[in-house]
Amino acid sequence: STFSALGISKEYIKSIKELGISTPSEIQEKGIPILMKSKTDFIGLAQTGTGKTAAFGLPILHHIDAKSNDIQALILSPTRELVQQIKKQLFKFTKYNEEKIFVEAVFGGEKIDRQIGNLKRTTHIVVATPGRLIDLIERGDIDISHVKTVVLDEADEMLSMGFKQDLNRILKFTSKSDRNTWLFSATMPEEIQKIVKTYMDANAPRVA
Ligand code: AMP
Repeated sequence: STFSALGISKEYIKSIKELGISTPSEIQEKGIPILMKSKTDFIGLAQTGTGKTAAFGLPILHHIDAKSNDIQALILSPTRELVQQIKKQLFKFTKYNEEKIFVEAVFGGEKIDRQIGNLKRTTHIVVATPGRLIDLIERGDIDISHVKTVVLDEADEMLSMGFKQDLNRILKFTSKSDRNTWLFSATMPEEIQKIVKTYMDANAPRVA
């Protein structure tokens, strides 16, 4: 198939082509048509290196209303490195956008004041490690009440790193009725099934 047939618009096809992404990978082929719908939960069994960042990132970019100043999507990932990588990829995807989409990264180990300062500017998508995001929520320095899409990237890794309580709290802070939850994980242990049962649509499409 082609990205065009999957519903990806021209400006993104142009930018991803420059990144060497011209034929959809398996997770992109199966996932993108589902995630391009405005309202769906999603479970993707996928490892790193499969192209999952573009699989969720391109549909998220399509769903953002750039005219609004609200944070509309939240991507949670286990490590600072992954958070920075995702932010960088999304930024590159938007190279040919007419309306700018703003992505911020928040993670532990960097001065929180700097991240708070960045969040005061227009931000549409936040890529975060769970612990630092909780800090920002508790300090009242981030408004996630308008978030429509929450991506749990490498969900099994986040749980094994001890982020279970943080994830539960973040999911409770975002309203279930408005929220699309897209979960990506290499494995599906009991603890992940529990998150799926508690926070996601029982009929969420599953893609392996
Ligand atoms: P990810 O699994 O999202 O971490 O992506 C791993 C790497 O594969 C990144 O460097 C992407 O730029 C690259 N990539 C993603 N999708 C494709 C694709 N369809 N064809 C070729 N490379 C890709």
